[in-house]
Amino acid sequence: MDGATAPTAATVLILLGPPGAGKGTQARMLEEKFGLVQLSTGDLLREAVAAGTEAGKAAKAVMEAGDLVSDDIVIAILRDRLEKPDCAKGVILDGFPRTTVQADALGALLQERGQSVNAAISMEVQDDAMVERISGRFTCGNCGEGYHDTFKPTATTGTCDKCGSTEMKRRADDNAETVAQRLEAYHAQTAPLIAYYERSGALSRIDAMGAIEEIASNLSHVVAKVTA
Ligand SMILES: [Zn+2]
Repeated sequence: MDGATAPTAATVLILLGPPGAGKGTQARMLEEKFGLVQLSTGDLLREAVAAGTEAGKAAKAVMEAGDLVSDDIVIAILRDRLEKPDCAKGVILDGFPRTTVQADALGALLQERGQSVNAAISMEVQDDAMVERISGRFTCGNCGEGYHDTFKPTATTGTCDKCGSTEMKRRADDNAETVAQRLEAYHAQTAPLIAYYERSGALSRIDAMGAIEEIASNLSHVVAKVTA
């Protein structure tokens, strides 16, 4: 430690959104627009293991034993990561915290650093509409053009508008039942966190059913308020 870091002003966002809500796209938009860095748990672990930090070595040993990395180790890795200069403006946490116990641990870490969670943003979707949106997707197996049963059907059923191929592909895990199950699992896992940040006053809900640009605008509005 050389005292070069000035942690107090950095923004901490938590982005919560179900699979298919475009969280990745929106996180990249926030990175560019606000100079933030997205930190996903998987990337954090991989980086720490590759860098061979103390916490990284601990994580590696646990993962090699086939066990889940403990909250303490993830927090230690996050503590190291937040010291890096690229986090000076702030971070977007993705995939952590997942539980209220982790949220408490995160709160304690941030408090050490004179920081707090500025906003936990919940990307809100309507499940029925999401199921329709995701399960209707298919692509041309020849040229890769994307289609949708309802929103972008082919002119002639089963034939690609672009290349005329009749080889259409659907992802097996994009069927309605699987999508509904993924959403249900998401809500079950996220509900306690949403309640947690609602109590702390950090929660913002944004409508994530609109066009990408509309969602981006709603998100930017929330982030601009807390980064000001
Ligand atoms: Zn095609």
